[in-house]
Amino acid sequence: MELEKPDLYRLSEDGRTLVLRGGRCASCKELSFPLTRYGCPKCGAEPDQVSEEMMDGRAQLLTFLTIHTKLIPGMTPPVVVGEAEIAPGMIEEIMLDGTEERYSDGMMLQAVPVEITKGEATMIACRFAPAEG
Ligand SMILES: [Zn+2]
Repeated sequence: MELEKPDLYRLSEDGRTLVLRGGRCASCKELSFPLTRYGCPKCGAEPDQVSEEMMDGRAQLLTFLTIHTKLIPGMTPPVVVGEAEIAPGMIEEIMLDGTEERYSDGMMLQAVPVEITKGEATMIACRFAPAEG
């Protein structure tokens, strides 16, 4: 099955979680996400200085809310969205799996594959769920 955004993530080896595709810069040693073709967003180093580094998909939930109106094309509300720290100092907007009762501020999350339907196609989207253990 196809990934919805293959430039952002891949299935982990056991297929139960997702790894995020970050980039590590050989010049400034900084990690960035997502991996881009344009070089290092931190120091401006050339693309050949940045190598792909898989991030484990763990994140800390900072804040979240439920959207009840149809704001996002292709998404059926309610949808739970949030902000999470996916690596130290790296904050991304994320979508959470299921309903808000599962979540609380500060909890650890794991990126997981969730099947979604886009038009006729079924794809694997990236959602975050409470981390096990
Ligand atoms: Zn750099």
